[in-house]
Amino acid sequence: MSVVTRFAPSPTGTLHIGSVRTALFSWLYARKHQGEFLLRIEDTDQERSTKEATQLIFESLDWLELDYDRAPCFQSQRTENYRLAAESLIESGRAYFCTCTPERLNKLREEFLARKAKPRYDGKCRDLNIQPTKGVPTTIRFRNPEIGNVVVNDLVQGKVEYQNSELDDLIIVRANGMPTYNFAVVVDEIDMGCTHVIRGDDHLNNTPRQMNIFAAFGQPIPEFAHVPMILSSEGRKLSKRHHDVGVLEWRDDGYLRETILNYLVRLGWSHGDQEIFSVDELIGLFDVSKIHRSPSSLDPKKVQWLNHQHMMRLKSTDGLRHSRPFFKKKGIEIDDSARTRKIFEVHQPRARTLVEFVEKSSFFFADFDSYDEKAAEKALTSQTRPLLIELRQSVDGLSDWSAEAIKLEFNALVERLGVKFVDIAQPARVALTGTLTSPGIDETIELLGREKVLERIDSAVSWIANLAESS
Ligand code: GLU
Repeated sequence: MSVVTRFAPSPTGTLHIGSVRTALFSWLYARKHQGEFLLRIEDTDQERSTKEATQLIFESLDWLELDYDRAPCFQSQRTENYRLAAESLIESGRAYFCTCTPERLNKLREEFLARKAKPRYDGKCRDLNIQPTKGVPTTIRFRNPEIGNVVVNDLVQGKVEYQNSELDDLIIVRANGMPTYNFAVVVDEIDMGCTHVIRGDDHLNNTPRQMNIFAAFGQPIPEFAHVPMILSSEGRKLSKRHHDVGVLEWRDDGYLRETILNYLVRLGWSHGDQEIFSVDELIGLFDVSKIHRSPSSLDPKKVQWLNHQHMMRLKSTDGLRHSRPFFKKKGIEIDDSARTRKIFEVHQPRARTLVEFVEKSSFFFADFDSYDEKAAEKALTSQTRPLLIELRQSVDGLSDWSAEAIKLEFNALVERLGVKFVDIAQPARVALTGTLTSPGIDETIELLGREKVLERIDSAVSWIANLAESS
């Protein structure tokens, strides 16, 4: 039987990275087994579900390229399916109408709590064969087996056993006609043909109830894998702190999709001591049974390190494609020419994120407004001015505009003027880039191009002259 997995988020807030990790596990499992990965939006809670949250789910999956194989399923559009499914259970005697009022149920609950017992429905309407009457609020309850047990052979948690006597007759359709979570999920799983349910371990205790409902429908029960949660770096439950919650913040801070997938998978799954995985490698190696049972904690330093590793492995065309939106924000359009690709390549060892790459390389594509103050104070002075003028003359005379030829010329100049390399390189760097940090000066000059180099040296030379005049 072909594998069908699903991701079933509730669109009630930002897409939490814990949820994204279960989506990733489900996606990897489907891709590994050439199966299908489906998306189901669990939006039956009309008060808490929002369009914005649904949009965030799409945007997050889109960015991470966790592609799903059919049109997304919306629970809010399936009320009729749930109603028909509930009716079929009533017909087969596996569900019944219940007219217990909320007041009665509250009172019952309080009685249980007063006895320090776990509240449960007492089965008052179970055998009354109630038929719905207009004007009388009526729910539908599942007739849970009273004896026996349910064994969940969870792919992560192992064997977990529940006694039916612990499970009461849960409401499957509310008086307003809306299905409850445990019921809708089972109807969906059946209709979508899901073979594997991978989700957060907060749903483990729902599983025996759901398994009983599958059985009542006479349908095969999917395999379950309940994944532990992710804790903050301090080992606490995740809060609304930056990066602890939404996955799109990572994107906006210039992290790569590959990094986040690699990072999330490694939180709670390992393959020997390998740290860096490409997405294809993950598909090949991923194994649900190797997911750890205990919660894992976020490690912000590791994600930075990982991103740098993935930045270094990125093809320059992909690097530029991902960087384009960040350049755009600065009003810079970049092309895909050999020069631009080379600019990306020389920054790969230097930039930990796309944002850092854009920060560090913008001077190649646009003129800067001012020099870094400290850098200019140090390197653009009346002592360095003549050196800049000499440099201008040397490079202007170059017929071969390559980093190698520029380096030779630079060394010749250093020798001729009897100064140190850094004495010329430092002012040149500030003149050309506005700061004291850049790739090698020969590469920087080559990639900036003759025209820009001459123009920026001229500007620096006049800037120093103006400064001298005004002081
Ligand atoms: N909608 C549920 C949640 O967001 C997930 C349910 C499931 O995966 O079965 O927690």
